[in-house]
Amino acid sequence: MDSAHYRFERLSEHVTFARSRPEGGALSNSALVDLGGETLVFDTSLTPQAAQDLCHAAAEVTGRAPSLAANSHWHLDHTLGNQAFTAVPTYGTQRTREILREKLGELSTQISVPVLEKRVGELEEMLARSPPGAVRMYLRGVLGTNRWLLDAAPTLRIVPPNHGFQGKVRLPGSRHAELVSFGGGHTESDALLYLPDDGLLATGDLVVVETHPNVRSGDAEQWLGILRRMEQLRPERVVPGHGPVGGPEAIEAVRDYLSTLLKLAQGFGPVDIPPRFAGWAMADQFEGNVEFLRSQRSR
Ligand SMILES: [Zn+2]
Repeated sequence: MDSAHYRFERLSEHVTFARSRPEGGALSNSALVDLGGETLVFDTSLTPQAAQDLCHAAAEVTGRAPSLAANSHWHLDHTLGNQAFTAVPTYGTQRTREILREKLGELSTQISVPVLEKRVGELEEMLARSPPGAVRMYLRGVLGTNRWLLDAAPTLRIVPPNHGFQGKVRLPGSRHAELVSFGGGHTESDALLYLPDDGLLATGDLVVVETHPNVRSGDAEQWLGILRRMEQLRPERVVPGHGPVGGPEAIEAVRDYLSTLLKLAQGFGPVDIPPRFAGWAMADQFEGNVEFLRSQRSR
């Protein structure tokens, strides 16, 4: 299926990976899963336009429209598409539901027409001044995504998931699928999708591949503990929140990143991105990550 927002990749008979395209209306990845009599969309994307493509693709690969959706965590690039799924159960942790309600005012302002118009204008100016290269490519991607968001802004609505759970929940359908939460690491409350028969974990942003994770909404130490518990599930494949599909080594790479970041945050002064992370996407996260961890230490 052709989409401006995703490249679709079949991972197994039952699982299709939706990888976000640069400049599209999705920032993060999703998974489309045939649960046996039920169709799940795991993470609903940033815009209703991208969410529509998830619905169409899910229907194409499973033969039925999505009957369930789920959110890995509250960040808008994983939840703002919920408004395309109001007719079906949408799962998220109880805390994720609460956080979205608590932040409703603040987040609604962030996605309002005037704020998005201003951001698009600023990005256009930055792009015009930016020399050819990686930064320019990155800016173009961010600008494209914000334009999709601005197009949808008059009708955008933040819709918290309507089925809260704690710990874990087995999803309906004849195939074994669980949403599992080991607490919070990337955010205050994160959930992942576990498909034991496929040896597959869809992780939200607990695992991102070749991409700088964002540590500023959660707790990096607890995140390390969650990574250990994920490894105990012995996944063969990991569907990350950002970047390409990986194997168990994808979890190890995030552990390396977080441990390194925690060490660097113990020092003072500017730090360079360690060479092994230098090629990763979203490099602008790095400095903010270090600053955040330092500010946590001094509290
Ligand atoms: Zn996130």
